[in-house]
Amino acid sequence: MNKFEALGLEENLLKAIADMGFETPSDVQEKAIPILLERDTDMVSLAQTGTGKTAAFGFPMLQKINVDSRTTQGLILSPTRELCLQITNELKNYGKYCKGLNVVAIYGGASITDQARDVKRGAQIIVATPGRMKDMIGRRLVDISKIEYCVLDEADEMLNMGFYEDITEILSHSPEDKSTWLFSATMPREVSTIAKKFMHTPVEITVGGKNMGAENVSHEYYLVNARDRYQSLKRLADANPSIFSVIFCRTKRDTQKVAELLIEDGYSAAAIHGDLSQNQRDMVMKSFRNRQIQMLVATDVAARGIDVDDITHVINYQLPDEIETYTHRSGRTGRAGKTGVSIVIVSKSERRKISTIEKIIQKKFVQKDVPSGMEICEVQLFHLANKIKNTEINHDIDTYLPNINDVLEEFSKEELIKKVFSVEFTRFYNYYKKAKDLNVSNDDYKDESKDSVRYFINIGERDDFDWMTLKDFLKDLLNLGKDDVYKVDVKDSFSFFNTDTEHQEMVLSVFNDFQLEGRRVSVEISKDSGRRGGSGRRGGGGGRDRGGRRGDFKKRSDRRGSSDRGGNSDRGGSKEKSGFKGRSRRRDNSSSDNRGTGGRRRRRD
Ligand code: ADP
Ligand code: MG
Repeated sequence: MNKFEALGLEENLLKAIADMGFETPSDVQEKAIPILLERDTDMVSLAQTGTGKTAAFGFPMLQKINVDSRTTQGLILSPTRELCLQITNELKNYGKYCKGLNVVAIYGGASITDQARDVKRGAQIIVATPGRMKDMIGRRLVDISKIEYCVLDEADEMLNMGFYEDITEILSHSPEDKSTWLFSATMPREVSTIAKKFMHTPVEITVGGKNMGAENVSHEYYLVNARDRYQSLKRLADANPSIFSVIFCRTKRDTQKVAELLIEDGYSAAAIHGDLSQNQRDMVMKSFRNRQIQMLVATDVAARGIDVDDITHVINYQLPDEIETYTHRSGRTGRAGKTGVSIVIVSKSERRKISTIEKIIQKKFVQKDVPSGMEICEVQLFHLANKIKNTEINHDIDTYLPNINDVLEEFSKEELIKKVFSVEFTRFYNYYKKAKDLNVSNDDYKDESKDSVRYFINIGERDDFDWMTLKDFLKDLLNLGKDDVYKVDVKDSFSFFNTDTEHQEMVLSVFNDFQLEGRRVSVEISKDSGRRGGSGRRGGGGGRDRGGRRGDFKKRSDRRGSSDRGGNSDRGGSKEKSGFKGRSRRRDNSSSDNRGTGGRRRRRD
């Protein structure tokens, strides 16, 4: 008996599975499928990206629904349009021998009337993004009052994206006694809350560290100065001529910027992020799948769940704000039995995050050196040699050969080889001959105190801040991540906070002429910078560790409430932010000047 048959799957699914070439069920499939087939139960399933979760819920759902009925029986909610389409395709594939099956995708950015019409034709399964789904329920274009199965796929990401309200609203239109299956890569508090709220004694399944992909993924980091990030990225690309890669940035702006730089420098790259139209995103994804694009620069949201096989490298151009997100990123490679590399380009100040990640993924990183210019020349020459070796001869050339031979007659084979390779080598050589070493020595890293700056700011408790609200305020205003403003210590009429040294110039320029409710707010570098900037930056804020004040802080933040906090950020933020943007744009220009060493064209591969 085939291993999928042993899980209880029926003939029409087994046939499709054989067509797809799946041989053994993955762990999550092995655990979830028999339970979901046998019982009508709720389930919480924790498994990393690339572990085959779609089939883990897809097979049982396909087997359990009645294809002879046109009633909608299954609903799958997923965070993004890309993922929604991917699941729909996957289900259609799995169900290709289920006669009469109709799976419909519902997502924003496409015609709502078309989708409504598809649903009306009788969709047993709907795969939807929460926003559009809620909209269509509101307009009575779909009816989920009779569903028996509901899947919350990538639940952590849906909640991250703020879909809690939408999900609650959607589920309130579904029957109480349906089965709910929640799939998630991580289990933050929000996910357990949703599990408690919507599920009755769910069966829990954890596939610990057994990501089908993860085993095949090795993790590397490159320690460089923050200003050398882009140069390092280019070297990594040049040192891997057949790279097929997703490059992650933290913001849409950085994503766009890095892609533009790569394109200007002659790489086949493109950006994918939420500011693109649906059409643009589809086109980018299509070219990436067809390998017309070698490097896809993406935000986490846009790349979430995208299942493109054979990605050789995932590059963390910047680490994510939420360290847990790293798992999702690295899960883009090493899929379906292939090996892959997940790379982090890391600056000194962030290096400690590497050990945090190691704890989460339970694997060690290898520190690698950014390749030198000459190493890259060597790699490129070998690549060319192999490419020539493997190129099939195009016999249409034959007729021109006599003339070509005439031109090259005087050269020996050795000379010809040298000449052919010089075409390539000289280009790289000229570009890289004066290239500097981009690696940061480990000794630099030891002196952590140099990397952190402590600031004095003339607002404090009197201005209704506590350390949490001040931290939020600063991080929003400065456009920094949640760990980038730390050691926030609020006094009565002034406060202190730290950032990494790399942000110092930006912080000071933002506060150069800054007003909050008509009052001038100034920031200076604190005198005791050196002493305080050292170790132990974690812990969220200076005040928290001091037991005596804890209750006080808590009360304050309770009293203020979250909307107040939001308002607080806006207050100073909106006006000044545009000023800040102008400044930071200037910084961008200077960083693109670094790139001025470029100008070479990349070989057309
Ligand atoms: P997840 O949702 O956990 O990230 P997917 O369901 O997208 O993972 O599956 C990842 C890839 O693995 C897909 O290309 C899928 O077709 C493939 N896959 C799933 N199950 C198996 C299996 N049992 N054997 C081989 N490949 C599989
Ligand atoms: Mg999935």
